[in-house]
Amino acid sequence: MSNDLDPAAIPLRRAGRSGLDLPAISLGLWQNFGATTARDAQRSVLLHAVERGVVQLDMANNYGPPPFAAESFVGDLLRRELRGRRDELVLTTKAGYHAWSGPYGEGGSRKYLLASLDRSLASLGVDTVDVFYSHRYDPTTPLTETIGALATAVTSGRAHYVGISSYSATRTREALAVARDLGVPLTVHQPSYSLLNRWVEQPDASGESVLEVADDAGLGVVAFSPLAQGMLTDKYLDGVPQDSRAATGTSLRPEYLSEANLARVRALHEVARARGTTLARLAIAWVLREPRVTTVLVGARTVDQLDDSLAALDEAPLGADELAAVEAALASVPGEPDVNLWASRSSD
Ligand code: NAP
Repeated sequence: MSNDLDPAAIPLRRAGRSGLDLPAISLGLWQNFGATTARDAQRSVLLHAVERGVVQLDMANNYGPPPFAAESFVGDLLRRELRGRRDELVLTTKAGYHAWSGPYGEGGSRKYLLASLDRSLASLGVDTVDVFYSHRYDPTTPLTETIGALATAVTSGRAHYVGISSYSATRTREALAVARDLGVPLTVHQPSYSLLNRWVEQPDASGESVLEVADDAGLGVVAFSPLAQGMLTDKYLDGVPQDSRAATGTSLRPEYLSEANLARVRALHEVARARGTTLARLAIAWVLREPRVTTVLVGARTVDQLDDSLAALDEAPLGADELAAVEAALASVPGEPDVNLWASRSSD
């Protein structure tokens, strides 16, 4: 691969009021980068992403399987094909979910978060990650301890920036206050957000939404699962393909592919067709229409999927009539789509 990244390849967007620019589309390694995926397929997708300018690689301690596998894979590439390129990349990781056995392998304690960060750094073979996140709010640990561990990650030189993921608006406000007291700012919030999962737009008990809090506090928003794990593509229109996440994994729960949700997907597919584009591109362009979103984190099993998602950047801005058509498509099916796997983490 060439040694010069084209900085104009993917537009950059500023993360809130920080100094950190992120590519409008970033690659997530949650699935497709573990022991169950062929190494060559992983290598092709990741190197293609970097070549195209997708320079933010989003990881977590539990991405694999097994835990730390995705980070070890990136570490291997940094020693080989990506040798000398580390500073051109934004490497992010998280801790919060189960990563090893025993009481110190998940949650929000200082002991777990910093031990996990050290394991992530060792897996990646780097001294510092660009962003370290608390992967979820832990109601059993004082927030001062969790956010204090993030602050230590920065002051000890293990992370350039820190953030939180799937925290509600209320918990985000609380986390911001703790971080302010400690003098280490939070830079990003990473929530799920898609046409089928709009919780970040809705106020919680505090009367504010995550998007409002992020905007007010100058937090960048890193929106994950913009395709609702693949539901917002054409793949489930005629059944469940054998190689799809719904068939091979557990995170895209069978109940998400309900008749009502599939009717919503069909209606949105028609909006995309009328625009002359794919549903995947429409879905990503729709998340990026939101100015408070810094970047969308897509997953990709193949190079073709990644290219289709990146083509969303070539879409003309969605007009008022198209946005209205999207709302009408969603409203054409009564009730609310419920595909938010992370909802319980955001309601603590
Ligand atoms: P997604 O982009 O909504 O879904 C990706 C999946 O959709 C692919 O693996 C593929 O699934 C399918 N797909 C992608 N492009 C396609 C296309 N053009 N046409 C047809 N199918 C396509 O995102 P995600 O994988 O759920 O999540 C993305 C990233 O967000 C993760 O890797 C992770 O970095 C981050 N994330 C963070 C959290 C958190 O708690 N902070 C949670 C979840 C995710 P098939 O295998 O079915 O083809």
